[in-house]
Amino acid sequence: MKKTKFIKNFYSLRLLVFLLVLLAGVVPLSILEVVLYQNVRQTLLGSRETELRNQTLIMANQIVTAGYLYNASASINLTGEMQQMAKDYDGRIMVMDASFMVISDTVDVNVGRFLIDANVLAAYDGTVYSHMDEEQETLLLIMPIQSTSNDTVLGVIAVSSSIAQQLAQLGSLQGKLVLLTVMLVIVLLVLALWASHIVVIPFASLKESVKQVSTGTVSSLNPVGYSELTEITVAFNSILSQLQKLDESRQEFVSNVSHELKTPITSIRVLADSLMTMEDAPIELYKEFMEDISKEIDREAKIISDLLALVKMDKSAAALEISKVDMNELLNSILHRLLPIAKQRNIELVMESFRPVTAEVDETKLTLAISNLVENAIKYNVDNGFVHVSLNADHRYMYIKVQDSGVGIPEDCLDLIFDRFYRVDKARSRETGGTGLGLAITKSVIQMHNGAIRVYSKLNEGTTFSVRIPLNYKE
Ligand code: ADP
Repeated sequence: MKKTKFIKNFYSLRLLVFLLVLLAGVVPLSILEVVLYQNVRQTLLGSRETELRNQTLIMANQIVTAGYLYNASASINLTGEMQQMAKDYDGRIMVMDASFMVISDTVDVNVGRFLIDANVLAAYDGTVYSHMDEEQETLLLIMPIQSTSNDTVLGVIAVSSSIAQQLAQLGSLQGKLVLLTVMLVIVLLVLALWASHIVVIPFASLKESVKQVSTGTVSSLNPVGYSELTEITVAFNSILSQLQKLDESRQEFVSNVSHELKTPITSIRVLADSLMTMEDAPIELYKEFMEDISKEIDREAKIISDLLALVKMDKSAAALEISKVDMNELLNSILHRLLPIAKQRNIELVMESFRPVTAEVDETKLTLAISNLVENAIKYNVDNGFVHVSLNADHRYMYIKVQDSGVGIPEDCLDLIFDRFYRVDKARSRETGGTGLGLAITKSVIQMHNGAIRVYSKLNEGTTFSVRIPLNYKE
């Protein structure tokens, strides 16, 4: 638990920016310093070696031309030159003749001795040996002395030179570089801290804005800083406004529900009160009032059952009980049930089917949805009118049309008729026992089946509802 919290805190944008800026500075800086140091080292030590090689070669040539290898004591000049060269390089020079014997040594220690060393022996084969010993601060060069006419090795010259001065220069450079590194790292640290602070400022103001929204101080987020954050803010604000709308519609629904439920109760109360206040009311009046009260109770019960149906629809689509349903049979049974109501007003109720249609639907819910449409077509019709129901399908969808010759719906009301409790003509709807919930239930059911419903209407001519539902249900 603690560990994950630690990792979460550790993995912050601020830290990421801090490390990135630091790395972006430190890595090139280190590479630059290494390259610089190696270059200076190469220049200082390399040029020292080249110079020593050249001087030694000149000395070897002089040794050959002066016949020094055969009579060293005869050439005092050359011995002096060697002494001077050894002094210049703060080192030592030894010359060996063809018989491996040391014939000259600037410190006079090895004269007359034989130096049997692997590198010296290799020089007799013409190989030049060069070695830098940083601990001893010396550069050792062993070279063959070759004849000027042919390449015959006549002897060997070994020269050592001090590189203390060059190493001291390198050491001082290294010290300066370390100092520079420390200073630059401090500057980089400050820069990284500053950058990591700057980068999270818009996030901090967004956090503050979210806090204000959550406490209800403001209703939407302020756009901040980066374009990416602005995009998030815009998306968040649209969710917020959707939630606000949802809340408003919920409140409106609750107030509508209480109003609708209160209306029949108020009527009942008025009817009952008037009966009670009446002295010696005739029995016929009692009967009439009781019938009215009974009607109001039926109405209350209808509103409650419609509300319950609607609440059920609002639950997830998983509540659907899908099965393969013969749609012709389903429509016929609806029409059969509603035929007596239509007959009361001499309304012609006919069904037209273009083909047998089987679809994956929730039979109970779809029956309720289509019944509402046909019931409305009868309710809002004129006497002696007609209601035509048709069923058709292609390979993907089925199409149901409910067409009537009724009163029609004004154009400006068309968008509203699917809203809960909306009624074009309140009085008429009340008369016919409408609750204003029928079309809301129908639309919900059709949407749960991934279908769509449309309405076309002309005032005083009639209305057509057309429904399209996929034949195969997909969640
Ligand atoms: P109600 O219970 O009032 O019928 P609905 O939700 O079923 O509620 O319908 C909402 C309103 O739409 C009705 O009050 C009515 O004014 C109008 N309406 C619905 N169907 C038709 C129709 N076929 N012809 C004319 N008006 C209709």
